[in-house]
Amino acid sequence: MSTQLVLAPETSTRQIHQIFELQKQHQRVIGNTTVAQRKEKLSKLHQTILKYRPQIREALYQDYRKHPSEVDLTEIYPVTGEIKHAKRNIREWMGKHHVQTPLALLGSSSYIKYEPKGTVLIISPWNFPVNLTFGPLVSAIAAGNTVMIKPSEITPHTSALMKQIITELFREDEVALVEGGVSTSTTLLSLPFNHIFFTGSPKIGKVVMAAAAKHLASVTLELGGKSPTIIDQSANIKVAARRIAWGKYLNNGQVCLTSDYVFVHKSKRDEFIKTVKHFVNQFYSANAYEEKSYGRIVNSRHFDRLKNYIKEAVDQGAQIELGGTFDKNENYIAPTVITNIPKDSNIRKHEIFGPIMPVYEFTDIDEVIQEINSREKPLALYIFSRSKKNIHQILSNTRAGGGCINHNVIHFFNNALPFGGTNNSGIGKGHGDAGFKAFSNARGMLKQHVPNVLDFLLPPYNSFKQKIIDLAIKYF
Ligand code: NAD
Repeated sequence: MSTQLVLAPETSTRQIHQIFELQKQHQRVIGNTTVAQRKEKLSKLHQTILKYRPQIREALYQDYRKHPSEVDLTEIYPVTGEIKHAKRNIREWMGKHHVQTPLALLGSSSYIKYEPKGTVLIISPWNFPVNLTFGPLVSAIAAGNTVMIKPSEITPHTSALMKQIITELFREDEVALVEGGVSTSTTLLSLPFNHIFFTGSPKIGKVVMAAAAKHLASVTLELGGKSPTIIDQSANIKVAARRIAWGKYLNNGQVCLTSDYVFVHKSKRDEFIKTVKHFVNQFYSANAYEEKSYGRIVNSRHFDRLKNYIKEAVDQGAQIELGGTFDKNENYIAPTVITNIPKDSNIRKHEIFGPIMPVYEFTDIDEVIQEINSREKPLALYIFSRSKKNIHQILSNTRAGGGCINHNVIHFFNNALPFGGTNNSGIGKGHGDAGFKAFSNARGMLKQHVPNVLDFLLPPYNSFKQKIIDLAIKYF
Protein backbone atom coordinates (compact mmCIF):
# COMPACT_ATOMS: atom_id res chain seq x y z
CA MET A 1 0.00 0.00 0.00
CA SER A 2 1.27 3.44 -0.89
CA THR A 3 0.27 6.73 0.68
CA GLN A 4 1.13 8.48 -2.61
CA LEU A 5 -1.82 9.27 -4.86
CA VAL A 6 -1.41 6.61 -7.55
CA LEU A 7 -4.23 6.66 -10.08
CA ALA A 8 -5.36 4.37 -12.88
CA PRO A 9 -4.36 5.56 -16.39
CA GLU A 10 -6.82 7.49 -18.58
CA THR A 11 -8.19 5.96 -21.81
CA SER A 12 -7.96 7.97 -25.02
CA THR A 13 -11.05 9.62 -26.51
CA ARG A 14 -10.42 7.84 -29.83
CA GLN A 15 -10.42 4.41 -28.16
CA ILE A 16 -13.59 5.18 -26.17
CA HIS A 17 -15.45 6.31 -29.31
CA GLN A 18 -14.25 3.25 -31.22
CA ILE A 19 -15.47 0.81 -28.56
CA PHE A 20 -18.79 2.63 -28.24
CA GLU A 21 -19.41 2.37 -32.01
CA LEU A 22 -18.50 -1.33 -32.03
CA GLN A 23 -20.88 -1.99 -29.14
CA LYS A 24 -23.69 -0.05 -30.80
CA GLN A 25 -23.32 -2.13 -33.96
CA HIS A 26 -23.22 -5.38 -32.01
CA GLN A 27 -26.12 -4.57 -29.69
CA ARG A 28 -28.84 -6.39 -31.64
CA VAL A 29 -26.82 -9.62 -31.65
CA ILE A 30 -26.26 -9.45 -27.90
CA GLY A 31 -29.82 -8.29 -27.31
CA ASN A 32 -31.18 -11.39 -29.05
CA THR A 33 -29.12 -13.89 -27.04
CA THR A 34 -31.07 -16.71 -25.38
CA VAL A 35 -31.52 -17.62 -21.73
CA ALA A 36 -28.92 -20.38 -22.13
CA GLN A 37 -26.37 -18.06 -23.73
CA ARG A 38 -26.72 -15.42 -21.02
CA LYS A 39 -26.49 -18.07 -18.31
CA GLU A 40 -23.31 -19.35 -19.87
CA LYS A 41 -21.77 -15.87 -19.85
CA LEU A 42 -22.69 -15.47 -16.20
CA SER A 43 -21.17 -18.86 -15.40
CA LYS A 44 -17.94 -17.88 -17.11
CA LEU A 45 -17.85 -14.61 -15.17
CA HIS A 46 -18.40 -16.63 -11.98
CA GLN A 47 -15.60 -19.09 -12.75
CA THR A 48 -13.19 -16.35 -13.74
CA ILE A 49 -13.82 -14.34 -10.59
CA LEU A 50 -13.10 -17.45 -8.53
CA LYS A 51 -9.99 -18.19 -10.59
CA TYR A 52 -8.72 -14.67 -9.92
CA ARG A 53 -9.71 -14.69 -6.26
CA PRO A 54 -6.09 -14.65 -4.97
CA GLN A 55 -5.21 -11.76 -7.32
CA ILE A 56 -8.35 -9.83 -6.33
CA ARG A 57 -7.40 -10.22 -2.67
CA GLU A 58 -3.86 -9.06 -3.44
CA ALA A 59 -5.00 -6.04 -5.52
CA LEU A 60 -7.29 -4.84 -2.75
CA TYR A 61 -4.53 -5.32 -0.21
CA GLN A 62 -2.29 -3.16 -2.40
CA ASP A 63 -4.98 -0.52 -2.82
CA TYR A 64 -5.97 -0.04 0.82
CA ARG A 65 -4.80 -2.98 2.87
CA LYS A 66 -8.14 -4.74 2.86
CA HIS A 67 -8.08 -8.07 4.69
CA PRO A 68 -8.51 -11.11 2.37
CA SER A 69 -11.47 -12.43 4.38
CA GLU A 70 -13.16 -9.04 4.11
CA VAL A 71 -12.50 -9.14 0.35
CA ASP A 72 -14.21 -12.52 0.18
CA LEU A 73 -17.15 -11.34 2.27
CA THR A 74 -17.76 -7.92 0.76
CA GLU A 75 -16.35 -8.10 -2.78
CA ILE A 76 -16.47 -11.71 -3.99
CA TYR A 77 -19.55 -13.11 -2.23
CA PRO A 78 -21.96 -10.30 -3.24
CA VAL A 79 -21.01 -10.82 -6.91
CA THR A 80 -21.13 -14.63 -6.89
CA GLY A 81 -24.44 -14.36 -4.98
CA GLU A 82 -25.79 -11.95 -7.59
CA ILE A 83 -24.72 -14.31 -10.40
CA LYS A 84 -26.38 -17.34 -8.77
CA HIS A 85 -29.56 -15.36 -8.15
CA ALA A 86 -29.63 -14.12 -11.76
CA LYS A 87 -29.07 -17.62 -13.17
CA ARG A 88 -31.91 -18.99 -11.05
CA ASN A 89 -34.35 -16.28 -12.17
CA ILE A 90 -33.31 -15.20 -15.64
CA ARG A 91 -35.74 -17.51 -17.49
CA GLU A 92 -38.61 -15.95 -15.60
CA TRP A 93 -37.27 -12.38 -16.03
CA MET A 94 -36.81 -12.82 -19.80
CA GLY A 95 -40.19 -14.48 -20.31
CA LYS A 96 -43.53 -12.91 -21.18
CA HIS A 97 -45.26 -11.42 -18.15
CA HIS A 98 -48.99 -11.65 -18.80
CA VAL A 99 -51.12 -8.91 -17.25
CA GLN A 100 -54.86 -8.27 -17.01
CA THR A 101 -56.76 -6.77 -19.95
CA PRO A 102 -59.87 -4.65 -19.21
CA LEU A 103 -63.30 -5.76 -20.46
CA ALA A 104 -63.44 -2.79 -22.82
CA LEU A 105 -60.57 -4.43 -24.74
CA LEU A 106 -62.32 -7.82 -24.85
CA GLY A 107 -60.80 -10.16 -27.41
CA SER A 108 -57.22 -9.21 -26.73
CA SER A 109 -54.47 -10.23 -24.31
CA SER A 110 -51.62 -8.19 -22.85
CA TYR A 111 -48.10 -8.87 -21.70
CA ILE A 112 -44.83 -7.17 -20.75
CA LYS A 113 -41.60 -8.21 -22.37
CA TYR A 114 -38.36 -6.90 -20.89
CA GLU A 115 -36.04 -5.96 -23.72
CA PRO A 116 -32.43 -4.76 -23.36
CA LYS A 117 -31.94 -1.01 -23.19
CA GLY A 118 -29.03 -1.30 -25.63
CA THR A 119 -25.53 -0.05 -24.97
CA VAL A 120 -25.09 0.87 -21.34
CA LEU A 121 -22.45 2.51 -19.15
CA ILE A 122 -21.46 1.48 -15.63
CA ILE A 123 -19.40 3.95 -13.57
CA SER A 124 -18.27 2.62 -10.20
CA PRO A 125 -16.59 3.98 -7.03
CA TRP A 126 -13.47 2.86 -5.19
CA ASN A 127 -14.90 1.71 -1.87
CA PHE A 128 -16.05 -1.76 -3.00
CA PRO A 129 -14.53 -1.71 -6.46
CA VAL A 130 -15.16 -5.34 -7.45
CA ASN A 131 -18.59 -5.65 -5.87
CA LEU A 132 -19.90 -2.36 -7.28
CA THR A 133 -18.49 -2.94 -10.76
CA PHE A 134 -19.23 -6.62 -11.36
CA GLY A 135 -22.54 -6.56 -9.41
CA PRO A 136 -24.26 -4.16 -11.85
CA LEU A 137 -22.46 -5.93 -14.74
CA VAL A 138 -24.30 -9.16 -13.84
CA SER A 139 -27.65 -7.36 -14.20
CA ALA A 140 -26.58 -5.66 -17.45
CA ILE A 141 -25.50 -8.99 -18.97
CA ALA A 142 -28.64 -10.76 -17.76
CA ALA A 143 -30.72 -8.03 -19.45
CA GLY A 144 -28.84 -8.49 -22.77
CA ASN A 145 -26.93 -5.24 -23.12
CA THR A 146 -23.53 -4.35 -24.48
CA VAL A 147 -21.62 -2.72 -21.64
CA MET A 148 -18.88 -0.18 -21.14
CA ILE A 149 -17.45 0.00 -17.63
CA LYS A 150 -15.39 2.69 -15.94
CA PRO A 151 -14.16 1.78 -12.46
CA SER A 152 -12.65 4.30 -10.08
CA GLU A 153 -9.14 5.55 -10.75
CA ILE A 154 -8.47 5.70 -6.99
CA THR A 155 -8.03 1.92 -6.61
CA PRO A 156 -5.59 1.39 -9.53
CA HIS A 157 -4.49 -2.19 -8.76
CA THR A 158 -8.07 -3.43 -8.65
CA SER A 159 -8.99 -1.39 -11.73
CA ALA A 160 -6.12 -2.94 -13.75
CA LEU A 161 -7.03 -6.44 -12.59
CA MET A 162 -10.70 -6.01 -13.47
CA LYS A 163 -9.63 -4.85 -16.93
CA GLN A 164 -7.60 -8.03 -17.30
CA ILE A 165 -10.59 -10.15 -16.25
CA ILE A 166 -12.99 -8.41 -18.63
CA THR A 167 -10.51 -8.57 -21.52
CA GLU A 168 -10.01 -12.29 -20.93
CA LEU A 169 -13.76 -12.94 -20.87
CA PHE A 170 -15.37 -10.69 -23.46
CA ARG A 171 -14.86 -9.24 -26.91
CA GLU A 172 -14.66 -5.47 -26.87
CA ASP A 173 -17.88 -5.14 -28.83
CA GLU A 174 -19.78 -6.85 -26.00
CA VAL A 175 -18.25 -5.79 -22.67
CA ALA A 176 -15.27 -3.43 -22.34
CA LEU A 177 -13.65 -1.86 -19.33
CA VAL A 178 -11.96 1.51 -19.83
CA GLU A 179 -9.73 2.78 -17.07
CA GLY A 180 -9.45 6.38 -15.98
CA GLY A 181 -10.73 9.24 -13.87
CA VAL A 182 -12.65 12.45 -14.53
CA SER A 183 -11.34 12.92 -18.08
CA THR A 184 -12.28 9.39 -19.22
CA SER A 185 -15.59 9.63 -17.38
CA THR A 186 -16.40 12.96 -19.05
CA THR A 187 -15.70 11.54 -22.51
CA LEU A 188 -17.91 8.54 -21.78
CA LEU A 189 -20.71 10.75 -20.46
CA SER A 190 -20.73 12.75 -23.71
CA LEU A 191 -21.83 9.63 -25.64
CA PRO A 192 -25.48 8.67 -26.22
CA PHE A 193 -25.66 5.58 -23.99
CA ASN A 194 -29.09 4.02 -23.55
CA HIS A 195 -28.65 3.74 -19.79
CA ILE A 196 -26.12 4.91 -17.22
CA PHE A 197 -25.70 3.02 -13.95
CA PHE A 198 -23.65 5.23 -11.66
CA THR A 199 -22.49 4.47 -8.14
CA GLY A 200 -20.78 7.31 -6.29
CA SER A 201 -21.36 10.58 -4.49
CA PRO A 202 -24.50 12.74 -4.81
CA LYS A 203 -22.28 15.57 -6.11
CA ILE A 204 -21.07 13.57 -9.12
CA GLY A 205 -24.50 11.94 -9.46
CA LYS A 206 -25.77 15.37 -10.48
CA VAL A 207 -23.00 15.66 -13.12
CA VAL A 208 -24.02 12.24 -14.48
CA MET A 209 -27.71 13.10 -14.57
CA ALA A 210 -27.05 16.41 -16.36
CA ALA A 211 -24.96 14.58 -18.99
CA ALA A 212 -27.63 11.88 -19.37
CA ALA A 213 -30.29 14.55 -19.91
CA LYS A 214 -28.53 15.66 -23.11
CA HIS A 215 -29.36 12.28 -24.70
CA LEU A 216 -32.39 11.47 -22.55
CA ALA A 217 -30.51 8.41 -21.33
CA SER A 218 -32.16 6.75 -18.37
CA VAL A 219 -30.13 6.60 -15.17
CA THR A 220 -29.73 4.53 -12.05
CA LEU A 221 -27.91 6.59 -9.46
CA GLU A 222 -26.63 4.68 -6.43
CA LEU A 223 -25.49 7.50 -4.19
CA GLY A 224 -24.49 8.05 -0.58
CA GLY A 225 -25.24 10.32 2.32
CA LYS A 226 -25.69 10.16 6.03
CA SER A 227 -27.49 6.99 7.15
CA PRO A 228 -28.74 7.20 10.74
CA THR A 229 -29.05 4.48 13.37
CA ILE A 230 -31.49 4.72 16.26
CA ILE A 231 -31.14 2.65 19.42
CA ASP A 232 -34.09 3.01 21.77
CA GLN A 233 -34.37 2.12 25.47
CA SER A 234 -35.82 -1.33 24.70
CA ALA A 235 -32.88 -2.44 22.49
CA ASN A 236 -30.50 -5.25 23.32
CA ILE A 237 -27.39 -3.10 23.71
CA LYS A 238 -24.91 -5.95 23.44
CA VAL A 239 -26.35 -7.01 20.09
CA ALA A 240 -26.66 -3.42 18.85
CA ALA A 241 -23.10 -2.47 19.83
CA ARG A 242 -21.58 -5.61 18.28
CA ARG A 243 -23.44 -5.23 14.97
CA ILE A 244 -22.97 -1.47 14.68
CA ALA A 245 -19.25 -1.69 15.50
CA TRP A 246 -18.89 -4.33 12.77
CA GLY A 247 -20.82 -2.20 10.24
CA LYS A 248 -18.96 0.99 11.15
CA TYR A 249 -15.36 -0.23 11.02
CA LEU A 250 -15.81 -2.70 8.15
CA ASN A 251 -13.78 -1.54 5.13
CA ASN A 252 -12.39 1.10 7.50
CA GLY A 253 -15.76 2.83 7.60
CA GLN A 254 -15.63 3.51 3.85
CA VAL A 255 -19.10 2.08 3.34
CA CYS A 256 -21.95 3.99 1.67
CA LEU A 257 -24.61 2.38 3.82
CA THR A 258 -22.91 2.18 7.19
CA SER A 259 -24.36 4.05 10.19
CA ASP A 260 -23.03 7.52 9.57
CA TYR A 261 -24.16 8.52 13.07
CA VAL A 262 -25.89 6.86 16.03
CA PHE A 263 -28.75 8.14 18.16
CA VAL A 264 -28.97 6.23 21.43
CA HIS A 265 -31.52 6.67 24.22
CA LYS A 266 -30.02 8.66 27.11
CA SER A 267 -30.57 5.77 29.55
CA LYS A 268 -28.43 3.46 27.36
CA ARG A 269 -25.76 5.87 26.16
CA ASP A 270 -22.95 4.91 28.56
CA GLU A 271 -23.64 1.19 28.29
CA PHE A 272 -23.64 1.46 24.47
CA ILE A 273 -20.30 3.30 24.30
CA LYS A 274 -18.72 0.89 26.80
CA THR A 275 -19.95 -2.10 24.81
CA VAL A 276 -18.76 -0.67 21.47
CA LYS A 277 -15.29 -0.28 23.03
CA HIS A 278 -15.43 -3.88 24.21
CA PHE A 279 -16.25 -5.18 20.73
CA VAL A 280 -13.73 -2.95 18.96
CA ASN A 281 -11.08 -4.45 21.24
CA GLN A 282 -12.38 -7.91 20.48
CA PHE A 283 -12.43 -7.36 16.69
CA TYR A 284 -9.20 -5.40 16.31
CA SER A 285 -7.34 -5.89 19.65
CA ALA A 286 -6.34 -2.95 21.85
CA ASN A 287 -4.04 -1.77 19.07
CA ALA A 288 -5.91 -1.83 15.75
CA TYR A 289 -2.77 -0.49 14.03
CA GLU A 290 -1.17 -3.93 14.35
CA GLU A 291 -4.31 -5.94 13.61
CA LYS A 292 -4.44 -7.24 10.03
CA SER A 293 -8.24 -7.33 10.05
CA TYR A 294 -8.29 -3.53 10.21
CA GLY A 295 -7.85 -1.74 6.88
CA ARG A 296 -6.62 1.69 5.89
CA ILE A 297 -8.04 4.90 4.44
CA VAL A 298 -7.81 4.74 0.66
CA ASN A 299 -5.48 7.71 0.15
CA SER A 300 -3.90 10.75 1.78
CA ARG A 301 -6.65 13.09 0.53
CA HIS A 302 -9.35 11.14 2.36
CA PHE A 303 -7.03 10.63 5.37
CA ASP A 304 -6.52 14.40 5.69
CA ARG A 305 -10.25 15.04 5.28
CA LEU A 306 -11.13 12.65 8.12
CA LYS A 307 -8.31 13.79 10.38
CA ASN A 308 -9.51 17.38 9.95
CA TYR A 309 -13.09 16.35 10.80
CA ILE A 310 -11.93 14.92 14.11
CA LYS A 311 -9.53 17.75 14.86
CA GLU A 312 -12.11 20.43 14.11
CA ALA A 313 -14.79 18.74 16.24
CA VAL A 314 -12.39 18.31 19.19
CA ASP A 315 -11.25 21.94 18.91
CA GLN A 316 -14.92 22.91 19.16
CA GLY A 317 -15.48 20.83 22.30
CA ALA A 318 -16.25 17.29 21.10
CA GLN A 319 -15.06 14.41 23.23
CA ILE A 320 -13.13 11.38 21.98
CA GLU A 321 -14.51 8.25 23.70
CA LEU A 322 -12.35 5.82 21.75
CA GLY A 323 -9.51 6.09 19.21
CA GLY A 324 -8.84 9.48 17.67
CA THR A 325 -5.25 8.51 16.84
CA PHE A 326 -3.58 8.56 13.41
CA ASP A 327 -0.55 7.55 11.42
CA LYS A 328 -0.12 9.58 8.25
CA ASN A 329 2.56 7.23 6.87
CA GLU A 330 -0.03 4.48 6.59
CA ASN A 331 -3.27 6.45 6.21
CA TYR A 332 -4.27 4.87 9.51
CA ILE A 333 -7.09 6.22 11.64
CA ALA A 334 -7.96 4.25 14.77
CA PRO A 335 -11.55 3.08 15.27
CA THR A 336 -13.03 6.22 16.77
CA VAL A 337 -16.11 7.02 18.85
CA ILE A 338 -16.87 10.69 19.40
CA THR A 339 -19.53 12.52 21.45
CA ASN A 340 -20.61 16.11 22.25
CA ILE A 341 -20.15 17.15 18.63
CA PRO A 342 -21.08 20.79 18.02
CA LYS A 343 -23.96 21.45 15.66
CA ASP A 344 -22.05 23.19 12.87
CA SER A 345 -19.05 20.83 12.66
CA ASN A 346 -18.22 19.05 9.40
CA ILE A 347 -18.81 15.63 10.98
CA ARG A 348 -22.45 16.58 11.33
CA LYS A 349 -22.74 18.21 7.92
CA HIS A 350 -21.00 15.80 5.54
CA GLU A 351 -21.03 12.06 4.89
CA ILE A 352 -18.17 10.77 7.07
CA PHE A 353 -17.04 7.75 5.01
CA GLY A 354 -14.41 6.68 7.52
CA PRO A 355 -13.99 4.89 10.89
CA ILE A 356 -15.56 7.63 13.02
CA MET A 357 -18.74 6.92 14.98
CA PRO A 358 -20.53 10.02 16.29
CA VAL A 359 -22.91 9.15 19.13
CA TYR A 360 -25.78 11.46 20.08
CA GLU A 361 -28.23 10.86 22.93
CA PHE A 362 -31.97 11.44 22.92
CA THR A 363 -34.92 11.19 25.28
CA ASP A 364 -37.84 11.54 22.88
CA ILE A 365 -38.03 9.63 19.58
CA ASP A 366 -39.85 12.56 17.97
CA GLU A 367 -36.68 14.68 18.35
CA VAL A 368 -34.74 12.05 16.42
CA ILE A 369 -37.39 11.84 13.72
CA GLN A 370 -37.35 15.61 13.38
CA GLU A 371 -33.57 15.69 13.08
CA ILE A 372 -33.56 12.94 10.41
CA ASN A 373 -36.33 14.64 8.46
CA SER A 374 -34.46 17.95 8.50
CA ARG A 375 -31.78 16.28 6.36
CA GLU A 376 -31.71 14.70 2.89
CA LYS A 377 -33.37 11.27 2.69
CA PRO A 378 -30.71 8.69 3.61
CA LEU A 379 -29.63 5.56 1.74
CA ALA A 380 -30.45 3.47 4.81
CA LEU A 381 -31.99 3.85 8.25
CA TYR A 382 -31.38 1.36 11.04
CA ILE A 383 -33.45 0.75 14.14
CA PHE A 384 -32.39 -1.27 17.15
CA SER A 385 -35.48 -1.82 19.26
CA ARG A 386 -37.78 -4.43 20.76
CA SER A 387 -40.71 -2.01 20.77
CA LYS A 388 -43.15 -2.55 17.90
CA LYS A 389 -44.63 0.85 18.64
CA ASN A 390 -41.29 2.67 18.31
CA ILE A 391 -40.34 0.75 15.17
CA HIS A 392 -43.68 1.63 13.59
CA GLN A 393 -43.40 5.25 14.66
CA ILE A 394 -39.94 5.63 13.13
CA LEU A 395 -40.72 3.78 9.91
CA SER A 396 -43.96 5.59 9.24
CA ASN A 397 -42.54 9.04 9.93
CA THR A 398 -39.25 8.85 8.04
CA ARG A 399 -38.18 8.04 4.47
CA ALA A 400 -35.05 6.12 3.40
CA GLY A 401 -33.80 3.97 0.52
CA GLY A 402 -33.82 0.84 2.70
CA GLY A 403 -32.58 -0.40 6.04
CA CYS A 404 -32.67 -3.06 8.74
CA ILE A 405 -34.36 -3.63 12.05
CA ASN A 406 -31.92 -4.90 14.69
CA HIS A 407 -29.05 -5.02 12.22
CA ASN A 408 -27.20 -2.81 9.79
CA VAL A 409 -25.69 -3.02 6.29
CA ILE A 410 -26.74 -6.61 5.58
CA HIS A 411 -29.93 -5.86 3.62
CA PHE A 412 -27.43 -5.25 0.80
CA PHE A 413 -26.75 -9.01 0.72
CA ASN A 414 -30.35 -10.02 -0.03
CA ASN A 415 -30.77 -9.98 -3.80
CA ALA A 416 -34.53 -10.34 -3.44
CA LEU A 417 -34.60 -6.78 -2.05
CA PRO A 418 -34.30 -3.79 -4.39
CA PHE A 419 -31.21 -1.86 -3.31
CA GLY A 420 -30.74 1.89 -3.64
CA GLY A 421 -31.55 5.30 -2.26
CA THR A 422 -34.22 7.90 -2.73
CA ASN A 423 -33.63 11.39 -4.17
CA ASN A 424 -30.31 12.64 -2.74
CA SER A 425 -29.25 9.08 -1.84
CA GLY A 426 -30.19 7.70 -5.25
CA ILE A 427 -32.60 7.22 -8.11
CA GLY A 428 -33.69 3.75 -9.20
CA LYS A 429 -32.71 0.41 -7.68
CA GLY A 430 -30.26 -2.39 -8.32
CA HIS A 431 -29.78 -6.07 -7.40
CA GLY A 432 -31.71 -9.13 -8.61
CA ASP A 433 -35.00 -8.42 -10.31
CA ALA A 434 -34.62 -4.65 -9.73
CA GLY A 435 -31.17 -4.69 -11.37
CA PHE A 436 -32.46 -6.65 -14.38
CA LYS A 437 -35.31 -4.13 -14.77
CA ALA A 438 -32.93 -1.16 -14.42
CA PHE A 439 -31.11 -2.36 -17.54
CA SER A 440 -34.33 -3.29 -19.44
CA ASN A 441 -37.18 -1.51 -21.14
CA ALA A 442 -40.57 -2.88 -20.06
CA ARG A 443 -42.19 -3.23 -23.48
CA GLY A 444 -45.96 -3.26 -22.94
CA MET A 445 -47.66 -5.35 -25.65
CA LEU A 446 -51.31 -5.98 -26.55
CA LYS A 447 -52.28 -8.76 -28.95
CA GLN A 448 -55.68 -8.61 -30.64
CA HIS A 449 -57.21 -12.06 -31.22
CA VAL A 450 -60.79 -11.38 -32.43
CA PRO A 451 -62.62 -8.16 -33.44
CA ASN A 452 -62.97 -5.80 -30.51
CA VAL A 453 -65.51 -3.19 -29.41
CA LEU A 454 -63.49 -0.38 -30.95
CA ASP A 455 -64.12 -1.87 -34.41
CA PHE A 456 -67.78 -0.83 -33.96
CA LEU A 457 -66.95 2.67 -32.76
CA LEU A 458 -65.10 4.06 -35.74
CA PRO A 459 -66.19 7.38 -37.28
CA PRO A 460 -68.61 8.67 -38.35
CA TYR A 461 -70.03 8.80 -34.82
CA ASN A 462 -73.78 8.56 -34.24
CA SER A 463 -76.15 8.27 -31.30
CA PHE A 464 -75.93 4.44 -31.18
CA LYS A 465 -72.12 4.54 -31.01
CA GLN A 466 -72.35 7.28 -28.39
CA LYS A 467 -74.55 4.98 -26.25
CA ILE A 468 -71.89 2.25 -26.35
CA ILE A 469 -69.20 4.81 -25.39
CA ASP A 470 -71.42 5.97 -22.49
CA LEU A 471 -71.82 2.36 -21.31
CA ALA A 472 -68.07 1.78 -21.49
CA ILE A 473 -67.37 4.90 -19.41
CA LYS A 474 -70.02 3.87 -16.88
CA TYR A 475 -69.24 0.14 -16.50
CA PHE A 476 -65.75 -0.75 -17.76
P1 NAD B 1 -17.25 9.77 -6.66
O1 NAD B 1 -18.62 10.28 -6.95
O2 NAD B 1 -16.17 10.74 -6.40
O3 NAD B 1 -16.74 8.88 -7.91
C1 NAD B 1 -17.49 7.84 -8.46
C2 NAD B 1 -17.09 7.65 -9.90
O4 NAD B 1 -17.32 8.85 -10.63
C3 NAD B 1 -15.62 7.30 -10.11
O5 NAD B 1 -15.52 6.30 -11.10
C4 NAD B 1 -15.01 8.60 -10.58
O6 NAD B 1 -13.91 8.44 -11.43
C5 NAD B 1 -16.16 9.26 -11.32
N1 NAD B 1 -16.07 10.72 -11.28
C6 NAD B 1 -15.53 11.48 -10.29
N2 NAD B 1 -15.66 12.79 -10.59
C7 NAD B 1 -16.28 12.86 -11.79
C8 NAD B 1 -16.68 13.95 -12.64
N3 NAD B 1 -16.47 15.22 -12.30
N4 NAD B 1 -17.31 13.65 -13.78
C9 NAD B 1 -17.54 12.37 -14.13
N5 NAD B 1 -17.17 11.31 -13.38
C10 NAD B 1 -16.54 11.54 -12.23
O7 NAD B 1 -17.42 8.71 -5.49
P2 NAD B 1 -16.31 7.87 -4.75
O8 NAD B 1 -15.46 8.79 -3.93
O9 NAD B 1 -15.62 6.94 -5.70
O10 NAD B 1 -17.23 6.96 -3.79
C11 NAD B 1 -17.74 7.44 -2.59
C12 NAD B 1 -19.18 7.88 -2.73
O11 NAD B 1 -19.95 6.85 -3.34
C13 NAD B 1 -19.83 8.10 -1.38
O12 NAD B 1 -20.68 9.22 -1.42
C14 NAD B 1 -20.63 6.83 -1.15
O13 NAD B 1 -21.69 6.96 -0.25
C15 NAD B 1 -21.08 6.53 -2.54
N6 NAD B 1 -21.40 5.10 -2.70
C16 NAD B 1 -22.69 4.73 -2.88
C17 NAD B 1 -23.00 3.39 -2.99
C18 NAD B 1 -24.42 2.89 -3.20
O14 NAD B 1 -24.57 1.73 -3.51
N7 NAD B 1 -25.44 3.71 -3.05
C19 NAD B 1 -21.98 2.44 -2.91
C20 NAD B 1 -20.69 2.87 -2.71
C21 NAD B 1 -20.40 4.21 -2.62
